Amino acid sequence: MAAAAAAKIAEVRETTRVERIGAHSHIRGLGLDDSLEARHVSQGMVGQVSARRAVGIVLQMVRDGRIAGRAVLLAGQPGTGKTAIATALAHALGQDTPFTSMAGSEIYSLEMSKTEALTQAIRKSIGVRIKEESEIIEGEVVDLSIERPATGVGTKVGKLILKTTDMETVYDLGGKMIDSILKEKVQSGDVITIDKATGKITRLGRSFARARDYDATGQQTRFVQCPEGELQKRKEVVHTVTLHEIDVINSRTHGFLALFSGDTGEIKPEVREQINGKVAEWREEGKAEIIPGVLFIDEVHMLDIECFSFLNRALENEMSPIVIMATNRGITKIRGTTYKSPHGIPLDLLDRTIIVPTQPYDEKELKEILNIRCEEEDCQMSDNALVVLTRICKETSLRYGMQLIMTSSLIARKRKAHEVDVEDIKRAYQLFFDEGRSVQFLKEYQQEFMF
Ligand code: ATP
Repeated sequence: MAAAAAAKIAEVRETTRVERIGAHSHIRGLGLDDSLEARHVSQGMVGQVSARRAVGIVLQMVRDGRIAGRAVLLAGQPGTGKTAIATALAHALGQDTPFTSMAGSEIYSLEMSKTEALTQAIRKSIGVRIKEESEIIEGEVVDLSIERPATGVGTKVGKLILKTTDMETVYDLGGKMIDSILKEKVQSGDVITIDKATGKITRLGRSFARARDYDATGQQTRFVQCPEGELQKRKEVVHTVTLHEIDVINSRTHGFLALFSGDTGEIKPEVREQINGKVAEWREEGKAEIIPGVLFIDEVHMLDIECFSFLNRALENEMSPIVIMATNRGITKIRGTTYKSPHGIPLDLLDRTIIVPTQPYDEKELKEILNIRCEEEDCQMSDNALVVLTRICKETSLRYGMQLIMTSSLIARKRKAHEVDVEDIKRAYQLFFDEGRSVQFLKEYQQEFMF
């Protein structure tokens, strides 16, 4: 039976991974060294050294849990890497720290109020690390059988007899345990552990008693003692979920499936109050811990005065995540008022915000970023073409220049060339307008457009 299980493993083929290339997919971290100094080019990040260093300090604050009530504003011209730096921070924080990214304009939806949208974003950025005790059983597999349905499709079932010091226990196997057994290539005579909470099976090796049988198969493994003495261990298992996930799961009108569709609608305040109470209880009992994460709001000038007041108040909460905002606006009107303020942000919020400026890139840095993007997009480009493209970026924008990488690469492919050359860049530049030329064009042909 165990042999049948092993044979099944051989049938599993590697699936091809499709990786999408996004605007920031070349960014893998902040590119800082151990003392949080920014390396000039590292982890896909180029230049912008002082902003990266500043965000490195924010990273340290998040890690130390000293962030409640703080806001950071990345302020700089379009295309100076504000979103790139926020993305880099998300990578650096790791998966256990929640990071939510949204654009200011996203809160204007017909499905929910502005404050509900902000509340959801805030609660998505607060993690709850829940500790649970799980029982781990260690023993030797006496017999193992897995049955496949006659048709070859459908659910597999099986039985496992496990010998611990003083008894043999029969386990009925289902989905997760069978997957685990197949993955670990478990056979009779192996010593394994079973995590009772998750059904996860870990193969420790062969027992001494059957070591010789095993040698005959020629496979290598470590030999472990047959289980003795203390067989059932308690292990602490930790899961991290966000407050928003707990809200959705407990909201009777939605159910947990809404988490996958993202269509959660409004959540009742009573549900949230209940969850807050429950989480506070778990914290007191030492069962849970709060992990404040990061909420990134791009184009923050799109928020209006009500949202800013709401955000200001939310920052007072001890569970508040760190709020990182980004804007490319200078002195401008605060939405929903007739008042002007720096970056379109009310002064009381600005007062509790640390501002990190981003600077325009020089030609060398632009060239370096384009070079990294060419690699990311699998595009071979001649040195001359890269020089021309860098010049175009300088005259127009970095984003426009990046768009020309893929377009010129397709043009080069059409003429069966393996490398993008100056002529391909020229052709793409003629075919696709940047913002400046588009405005010029509109001005010249105004009369012919509809009003
Ligand atoms: P906007 O104000 O228009 O929102 P932004 O400052 O957020 O602009 P990004 O979107 O971060 O600019 O940058 C434009 C493009 O350039 C992105 O693809 C980004 O990944 C890349 N980029 C910007 N700065 C850097 C950098 N220092 N290193 C590597 N890539 C960068």
